[in-house]
Amino acid sequence: MKCPVCESDSPSVFFEMDDVPLFCNILCSTKDYALAVQKGDIKLAFCGDCMHVYNSDFKPELLDYTPEYENSLHFSNKFQDYASSLANTIVEKYNIQNKSVIDVGCGQGDFLKMVCDVGNNKGFGFDPSFRDEKRQDGSISADLEIIKDYYSPKYSNYSADLLCCRHVLEHIFEPGQFMQSIRTALQNRKDAVLFFEVPNVLYTLRDMGIWDLIYEHYSYFNSFSITNLFKCSGFEVLDTYETFAGQFLCIEARLTDNSQSSELMISEDISNYVSLFQKQYAEKKDSFAKQLSEIKENNLKAVLWGAGSKGVTFLNTFKIKDEIQYIVDINPRKQGMFVAGTGQKIISPDFLREFKPDVIFIMNAIYRNEIQKMMDEFQIDVKFLTV
Ligand SMILES: [Zn+2]
Repeated sequence: MKCPVCESDSPSVFFEMDDVPLFCNILCSTKDYALAVQKGDIKLAFCGDCMHVYNSDFKPELLDYTPEYENSLHFSNKFQDYASSLANTIVEKYNIQNKSVIDVGCGQGDFLKMVCDVGNNKGFGFDPSFRDEKRQDGSISADLEIIKDYYSPKYSNYSADLLCCRHVLEHIFEPGQFMQSIRTALQNRKDAVLFFEVPNVLYTLRDMGIWDLIYEHYSYFNSFSITNLFKCSGFEVLDTYETFAGQFLCIEARLTDNSQSSELMISEDISNYVSLFQKQYAEKKDSFAKQLSEIKENNLKAVLWGAGSKGVTFLNTFKIKDEIQYIVDINPRKQGMFVAGTGQKIISPDFLREFKPDVIFIMNAIYRNEIQKMMDEFQIDVKFLTV
């Protein structure tokens, strides 16, 4: 077993999770289709040499992204505010005004548009899953050019003062090669700043955000392993920090010519979190199993809020059928669809006016106030369980 960051032979598996849907965020238009989705196993390995955590059972050939994939978080005001303040901060910090910005894996271009609007920049987005109808609805302005392809050295003619890459690196099977390819593509812009954002594995290991373990993610980075990856790939790391209540990890870097010291950064804390994880995971899982059986015994009407990765993983972990009947999501593209693996119907918040649930499972505490406000407006008295 070779570590994908430092190539050492030392990684060993410390946690296993079987039978998880390959995709949490596919749109399943029928219940049968949702129940029949293909599944895979997660075997988390830890490299004691560079602190990296990854799924050593990951089979990239099983994943094939299509436009049926929907993971935009931009429907939530809370998330919009976060993204917009992030765009502001980066533009200000690196003085990205009237410049060129590349967004690798730009999704539907929401974040790129923010960076361009706030700094009057010209944006180039790369994403094979971009939906063409977005060009017609006016949300893609003349300052944005979206290329429906993966970013690679063949696009080195596109200039960048800032290269963003958010929630992409964790999906890449060969992260070292991916970073090398970005390095090659940017050779003519040595002054360009890179801004990467990934899920923070410490949120899972330290804060027990255990529903973030999904098959689509090959790598689970912490500030040490991502710094080691960037250094090994010829970048100078300018900053790393956590955002979104510790759930995300950001790294800022630029190309360097200096031959980097090959010394890898390590952390005893991370090794400790890894060694405690299996036991703490089991404890957390048990406590939710108890709550779910109480709901069943008392015939309570329960729904879960958020048909994103966390919600889908929670439902599949417990193979939930009747205890939670519906999943609420504010993304209209998900409403009317069914949850991969467990088959619950995804509904809009409005549905709750009639359904009047007794319990709402909230998958992400960060959205709690937003949800509470909506329920107050509906005059629904409901118990919240933050997962
Ligand atoms: Zn390693």
